[in-house]
Amino acid sequence: MTVIDLRSDTVTRPGQRMLDAMCAAELGDDVYGDDPTVNRFEELAAETFATEAAVLAPTGTQTNLIALLAHCQRGDEYIVGGDAHTYKYEGGGAAVLGGIQPQTLPFDEQGVLPLDQVKKLIKEDDTHFARTRLLALENTQHGRVVPLAYLQQARQFTRENGLTLHLDGARVMNAAVKLGVPVADITRQVDSVSVCLSKGLGAPVGSVLCGTAAFVAEARKWRKMVGGGMRQAGLIAATGIVALEENVQRLAEDHANAEHLATALESIDEIEINRNWLETNMVWATVPRAVTEQLASHAAAQGVKLSINREGRCRMVTHLDVSRQDVEKAAEVIGDFFRP
Ligand SMILES: *Cc1c(COP(=O)(O)O)cnc(C)c1O
Repeated sequence: MTVIDLRSDTVTRPGQRMLDAMCAAELGDDVYGDDPTVNRFEELAAETFATEAAVLAPTGTQTNLIALLAHCQRGDEYIVGGDAHTYKYEGGGAAVLGGIQPQTLPFDEQGVLPLDQVKKLIKEDDTHFARTRLLALENTQHGRVVPLAYLQQARQFTRENGLTLHLDGARVMNAAVKLGVPVADITRQVDSVSVCLSKGLGAPVGSVLCGTAAFVAEARKWRKMVGGGMRQAGLIAATGIVALEENVQRLAEDHANAEHLATALESIDEIEINRNWLETNMVWATVPRAVTEQLASHAAAQGVKLSINREGRCRMVTHLDVSRQDVEKAAEVIGDFFRP
């Protein structure tokens, strides 16, 4: 039975092109800076995201962490969405390891942080207060694309208020493809951006952090300190090159498949689709609470992996190992559960 895994876009297996690239990769010791494949990848990333420099790391959690550590000092504060990955899903790393305190506020319906509200949270220069240093945004946020106009405003706002702007762009390529713009149009608006290679872009491991040369040099020091200095990392970088060169435009297929899946599921009375969040490769659905476990195990028995929480919230993510046929089959399997 072929498995259709809709839990996340992190589950993709490296394709033949990536495996071949790994086998052919010229390797060195990246901690000495002499792995040619890592160097080529980092140059390609810096060019792609229109920054001076880039650094490869094993995970997006680590790139976000070293970004915060490089931008902020102990006793500083960063403003971040209450549902943001950086704040909620990274073990509180910035606070634990960096002494950087988060100040959260809720994302609005568009997945952004309203700047008038951010403004109110910036602390005055006063001995009582932590120093507000940085604004962290996320794009995509739960699959929603951050509007370019908002990013331009956020850039100006952070400049005027003496803040640094970091973007958790784990899925920023999905945003660029959806907007039909070069990703640099997005990343030029921020001081630093973290991008995952291991999600829709299909690499097995890896994330990249981009920014100015000085910032990246600082982040590189932090990466070493938190254990992210990897040796023959060209094996990973080779897949990152394939990811950036070959797997970006095809994200449009994932978006179309998500749309197709949502439309098919909408015909099931028990399921509610959150259309407002359906912009890229994520379908957010609500299923009756009483059946969350039964539905998940029914689907699993038919080869469809779903993640559903206790509130009945189900996130289905399309990616390069999920075809049009697969989403049709998944919708059928879910439909059969309610109408056997
Ligand atoms: C996946 C993800 C990350 C990083 O996750 P890792 O699993 O550590 O690579 C960061 N931010 C967002 C929004 C993500 O979805």
